[in-house]
Amino acid sequence: MRLSRPRKLALVAVALLAVGLAGRAAAETTPAPKTQAVAPAVKATAKPKKKPAPRTKANAKAKAVAHRTPIGPGGSKMITGSRGVALTFDDGPDPVQTPALLKLLKQQKVHATFCLVGKNVHRHPELVRQIVAGGHTLCNHTWSHDLRLGKRTAAQIRADLARTNAEIRKAAPTAKIKFFRAPGGNFTPGVVAIARSMGMSSLYWRVDPRDWEHPEGETDAQHRWRVIQRVQRNTHDGAIVLSHDYAQPDTIAAYRTLLPWLKKRHQLVGLQ
Ligand SMILES: [Zn+2]
Repeated sequence: MRLSRPRKLALVAVALLAVGLAGRAAAETTPAPKTQAVAPAVKATAKPKKKPAPRTKANAKAKAVAHRTPIGPGGSKMITGSRGVALTFDDGPDPVQTPALLKLLKQQKVHATFCLVGKNVHRHPELVRQIVAGGHTLCNHTWSHDLRLGKRTAAQIRADLARTNAEIRKAAPTAKIKFFRAPGGNFTPGVVAIARSMGMSSLYWRVDPRDWEHPEGETDAQHRWRVIQRVQRNTHDGAIVLSHDYAQPDTIAAYRTLLPWLKKRHQLVGLQ
């Protein structure tokens, strides 16, 4: 197709205009990375607004209250009431682990609290005597580690706690049993009240390294390291620390490292 000169010029002008516009458009799109870089910043500032959304108001309030007044379930104790840190060992006595722990505590001159299961007391009364002779504190932890204690009738709860205390006293007649811990920490106000009426203060905890938990694939060394790390990170003055001597050799091993570490930073106390 042949075009007249003016038409050709007009076409060239249009073409130039198009190129110019395209160039401009390109220039405008090149700073794209900038806008991308800005985007996360916008997101980041938007984040805190979103954060409280998954939590309910009630949960947030409960957490805030728990932080201000450290009271465990049912009105149980989470802290020692002094600057001292209390180590508590549950579910024993264990014929192997309890003597190993007692030896370690003696070497380190540390007093701890033992939450005893009645059935195990019945099997190993001599270990209860050793615990008492070591100057440690005793705590009732029910006859057979009943995790559903709070669901029982008051008479059943009272009978369980009385049977356990009787077994402990059979082993060590002069021993004082001033503390009680519901298995799993499953305290209810009713359980706490019954324990109190029997002269026992209910003992929850502030630090739980979950030493009883053995996730699949976790080696013994990893387990020990996890227990050590959790106790080191979470223990502050006044804390009650939960651990287990019953059937937990890695817990005892962890405390070989933890006892000297804790002693440098805190006063370790047997509960009074
Ligand atoms: Zn227990």
